[in-house]
Amino acid sequence: MKKLIPVTDLTLQNKALKAKIAKEILNLSKNCDFVLGQEVGLFEEDIAKYCGVKYAVGVASGTDALVLSLLALGIGTGDEVITTPFTFIATAEAIVRAGAKPVFCDIKPDTYNIDEDKIEALINSKTKAILPVHLYGLSCNMDKILSIAKKYNLKVAEDCAQSLGSRYNNNMTGSFGKISALSFFPSKNLGCFGDGGAVLTNDEELAKKVRLMRNHGSSDKYKYIMHGFNSRLDTIQAAILRIKLENLDKWVKMRRKNAELYIKLLNGVQGVTLPMESEGYYSSYNYFTIRIKNNRTLLKDALKNEGVSSAIYYPLSLHLQDVFKNLGYSKGNLPNAEAAQEEVLSLPMYPELKTAQIKKIASVIRKALK
Ligand SMILES: *Cc1c(COP(=O)(O)O)cnc(C)c1O
Repeated sequence: MKKLIPVTDLTLQNKALKAKIAKEILNLSKNCDFVLGQEVGLFEEDIAKYCGVKYAVGVASGTDALVLSLLALGIGTGDEVITTPFTFIATAEAIVRAGAKPVFCDIKPDTYNIDEDKIEALINSKTKAILPVHLYGLSCNMDKILSIAKKYNLKVAEDCAQSLGSRYNNNMTGSFGKISALSFFPSKNLGCFGDGGAVLTNDEELAKKVRLMRNHGSSDKYKYIMHGFNSRLDTIQAAILRIKLENLDKWVKMRRKNAELYIKLLNGVQGVTLPMESEGYYSSYNYFTIRIKNNRTLLKDALKNEGVSSAIYYPLSLHLQDVFKNLGYSKGNLPNAEAAQEEVLSLPMYPELKTAQIKKIASVIRKALK
């Protein structure tokens, strides 16, 4: 069988940077500076600058970045955190790992992000924070979320796992909340050769806390001042990420150009809703997700028959997952998330995707839905 056009393809960017990366890895193997080596600090400076924040702390994954962010904010047992149910499990899992309870707020049908107009109704005396997720690379309405947080004295932690390089009113996502989490899982906008993540903040105390927690709460060698984790970003990953970060803006632009072409070619196709980007929003298009009423399976199969992969992010909203049964949600509670899980389809999207490939994908979709 011939190879399908994948949803994400990392081989092309890795090929282009092969020589540079190989040289770095070879250097590191000579120095053996594998854990919290020099490259980690250098990358932290680079990524903080890129995102427009004062501090970045490299950690072992995006999931850990979320857990450590919430713990640094002092969130724990008895607290509630309002978040979206239409996201990767890690978002809500991190709330549970911090000891708190996730409270799911329905999404907007056009952006798939948390519906800022439904947040206030969920706030009570236990609510401590709002955890918005910039899904598929599109920022949430941060003005509105920040003003609600201010009114009720809540913390905002951003899940930027899919939105590195995305902007809202000209500022980077990750620069709005009190603290933010990044993921460098390979399929994200900036991916390493394994797992990796980072916490962003402008607050020196929070940065200090996360720095301690990622390394067993150790202030000095064999001196411990708080309970922590083993959650460090490997030196080797930091070195790779430094090389890749130089290309990130270019890659985001290429993703946006691809999205623009998709939108142009798919405009007006019956039954297809395209991603939307209102004024002031600048999506990094980690995924290009369309919405299709009724015919999703038909379309997915038609694409596959013509050599095109597609993916469903996410097929089951978190409030309906077995693992959250104890929270007491049932079908019908969050109708927009439930409709989205039946209708979304993510098409191939990566910087090096070719014009001819996008044209082919668009024509398969047009034909299938005629
Ligand atoms: C990928 C992802 C995470 C978790 O990141 P890992 O690095 O895989 O732990 C968290 N939230 C969202 C929205 C994600 O897409």
